[in-house]
Amino acid sequence: MEIVHIAAELAPIAKVGGLGDVLHGLCRALLQQKHQVKIILPKYDTLDLDQVEHLEILTQDFPTRFDGVVYSNKLWKGVVDGIPVLFIESRHPKRLFDRENIYGYDDDLTRFCYFCLAALAVLQKNPCDVIHIHDWHTALIAGLVKEVYPQIEAKVVFTIHNLAYQGLCRGEDLDKVGWKSPQLKESGVYNLLKGGIVFADHVTTVSPNYAQEILNSELGGNLQTTLKQHSRKFSGVLNGIDYRYWDPEKDPLLPYHYSSANVQNKKEIKKELRKRLSLTEEDCPLVGTVTRLVPQKGPELIKASLLRTLEWGGQFILLGSALDERTYHHFSNLKRKLAGSPHVHLELTYNEELSHLFYAGADLFLVPSLFEPCGLTQMIAMRYGTLPLVRKTGGLADTVFEEKNGFLFGPPTAEAIHTSLDKALETWYHKPKLWRQFIQNCMRSDFSWNHPAEEYLKIYHL
Ligand code: ADP
Repeated sequence: MEIVHIAAELAPIAKVGGLGDVLHGLCRALLQQKHQVKIILPKYDTLDLDQVEHLEILTQDFPTRFDGVVYSNKLWKGVVDGIPVLFIESRHPKRLFDRENIYGYDDDLTRFCYFCLAALAVLQKNPCDVIHIHDWHTALIAGLVKEVYPQIEAKVVFTIHNLAYQGLCRGEDLDKVGWKSPQLKESGVYNLLKGGIVFADHVTTVSPNYAQEILNSELGGNLQTTLKQHSRKFSGVLNGIDYRYWDPEKDPLLPYHYSSANVQNKKEIKKELRKRLSLTEEDCPLVGTVTRLVPQKGPELIKASLLRTLEWGGQFILLGSALDERTYHHFSNLKRKLAGSPHVHLELTYNEELSHLFYAGADLFLVPSLFEPCGLTQMIAMRYGTLPLVRKTGGLADTVFEEKNGFLFGPPTAEAIHTSLDKALETWYHKPKLWRQFIQNCMRSDFSWNHPAEEYLKIYHL
């Protein structure tokens, strides 16, 4: 099969969160099964080009009509970790992709609508069997393929990685695209994500439980009715993680390696991590988390567990990329207050290398999200034998099971997470044999892309 993915992120060259990881992992798994796979990505100024091989220009000049003007673009091709990628370089005067970050600009709608139109021009010259689009940034492509470019016969699969981001826009924004449909409207506002749901041949989201939650609970928000109308073409496919990249036996970012057969070196990594973060070496549990620090990820609950961990005589570490201004200030104040503590370290940044030490060196890994479509970090932690403590929501509830591989809590309250944390720390201190058993259960489960890739292939073949 010829499958073209179109998305805003691709790990490791353009990653903000899980979307980038999913593109990378899923495409590699599909390639391994001998399918033809390509990704179309904006040529961001900030791409890590050291990780792109065989980069060359394919087309010097291909046009995109936008807002009544024809702009020229360049098309590049390259290979990222074995995956063929087409990069669209826009020559729009607003330098749409030459920004410091991938998202977060007033003209994000313009940027990604433009990208969709340019990608469609590429698709017209590159026929394929399946066009797989991701999140609101590329959702517009579904409607355009069905209503404006009927000559593109490929099946369109649309994956919702997070229903909270919908690409709301005004009629004028779509006038620039040159196509709008009343079917895109939700509560009087044009909604790009809704267009993806309505026009795609099949719609998926990233875990079976989140699929049910957005169909049947307030998490579906304003799109619950639309999802219900299209429920026959809607399903949840649990994400995987890249087992080659996240591998405690070979991870080049770790100072020592280990496997489920011998986890001794995990302790050595814990020591290294403590040294690196200026924590004292003591016989106590190390509780950690790696997260974007935004309201979705339960920052209040993270703080509540930090304090509780200290009460238990444990140590607490956080690696948080602070995209949300209020949360950032909150945590930097907390960091200042706790400065010099030999039991706490808060690192308020994005750091890929350090994240590997966290996953491997911690004992317990927190994911107290208020909602979580799938969540990758709990799966990565388990791969490294670090037990997850998560809120029972979305994909977290599809991957973590009490009394088997981790700890769960329900209500998003300090009280609930305390109860769960008490149980986890009690187990660490007083039931080491059970703890070791949980580590084995985690490390021996299969969260690789093999199974999800099969599921996507079934959908592509439907
Ligand atoms: P989301 O996409 O909502 O951020 P996921 O759990 O799906 O959450 O994916 C998060 C990914 O981003 C994981 O690969 C995780 O390791 C990485 N990540 C998140 N925050 C950081 C950080 N501060 N430093 C390094 N990696 C991070």
